[in-house]
Amino acid sequence: MDEAQRGETIVVIDDDHAMRLACEQALAKVGFTVSTYADGAHGLEAVGAARPGLVVVDLKMPGLSGLDVISRINAIDPTITIVVITGYATIGTAVDAMKAGAYDFLPKPFSPDELRLIVRRGFERRRLQMASQQCEIERELERRRFVTFVSHQLKTPLVAVHQYLDVLRQLGETPEAAAKRQEWLGRCLTRTDELRHLIDDWLTLAQLDGGLLGRQRTRLDLSDTVTSVLQTYEAMAARDGVTLTAELAEPIPVHGDPTCVGVLIDNLVANAIKYNRRGGTVTVRGRRAGGEVVVEVEDTGVGVPPDALPRLFDEFYRVRQPGTPKIEGTGLGLPICRRIAAEMGGVIEVESIEGTGSTFRVRLPDAEAAVPVPATGRSS
Ligand code: ADP
Repeated sequence: MDEAQRGETIVVIDDDHAMRLACEQALAKVGFTVSTYADGAHGLEAVGAARPGLVVVDLKMPGLSGLDVISRINAIDPTITIVVITGYATIGTAVDAMKAGAYDFLPKPFSPDELRLIVRRGFERRRLQMASQQCEIERELERRRFVTFVSHQLKTPLVAVHQYLDVLRQLGETPEAAAKRQEWLGRCLTRTDELRHLIDDWLTLAQLDGGLLGRQRTRLDLSDTVTSVLQTYEAMAARDGVTLTAELAEPIPVHGDPTCVGVLIDNLVANAIKYNRRGGTVTVRGRRAGGEVVVEVEDTGVGVPPDALPRLFDEFYRVRQPGTPKIEGTGLGLPICRRIAAEMGGVIEVESIEGTGSTFRVRLPDAEAAVPVPATGRSS
């Protein structure tokens, strides 16, 4: 007896006394809790009250027919597994029973072992069905939470812009009002920029999830990607007093989508500057190592508190660091990086010491050593 099934309850409905007894003995012997009924009406009453995991039902009975009993059990609780037994077995009756909602069909006469086998299979299917239903419920709840959260994230800057515009409308024509107008217009631009970034990142994530990004797989040299990304950040780094350095073993061959690879490196370098401090450094290292290529983006910035590390790649997660100035961001950059790395058959890891700095490490298959990872159309 499968221990997980011990004590499971079964209702047997059959007008034949000898058959009821035989079923009860065969099933009780291996640990099931069995109750038997001679007609559909009493059987259904018991099913409604006891909600058994499985019902064994005879098709041909006086009064309520087996098919009626099956449909009514389904109406009571569709998760109850129904096994049909009948002495008038034809393909037609089997099909009718399945259509009405039965799980399996056992022609009479049958041996105790045959009955036990079919019942165990029924319980196993029920277990799998319930587990998958639970997963489905959890996925749906997660999806709703996500939609609620995104709506909130989109609404916040929009409400702020609305309020700024309302104030602007009421400003007069004095020189002070003109100065105020400039200030509030600047705030509007900042918030709409925030909104645009959020929508862009969210779209990128949705496209990665839907397999719409990352399909194109070409051979790339990551050294080129890193060099060009660092060039685009020269001005921002200079403004923040951060020095950018690259230590690259050339070439670093990978198979990937050029846009996605660019986004991956771009996000990591942007973060390394954003979460750095004046006078700090960002060093990007790239090398080939045993069938892999490794790219590390190391910074001397604020670092990440240990308790925040496990959540760093979660969607919309942003570390709250009281006392530090607010840094704009969407909380979607690292989840995007993780999806892209996974899409390319690789991983992304982080090491960080709060107050000292962080190193984000991306490990990808070496395009010269490994068989190219096929485009799956979905990320993990
Ligand atoms: P964003 O930067 O838009 O908030 P990310 O997903 O890129 O979103 O990063 C999530 C969070 O991880 C950031 O808000 C920040 O708190 C933290 N983080 C990311 N990169 C670094 C880094 N290099 N140094 C310190 N903290 C970082």
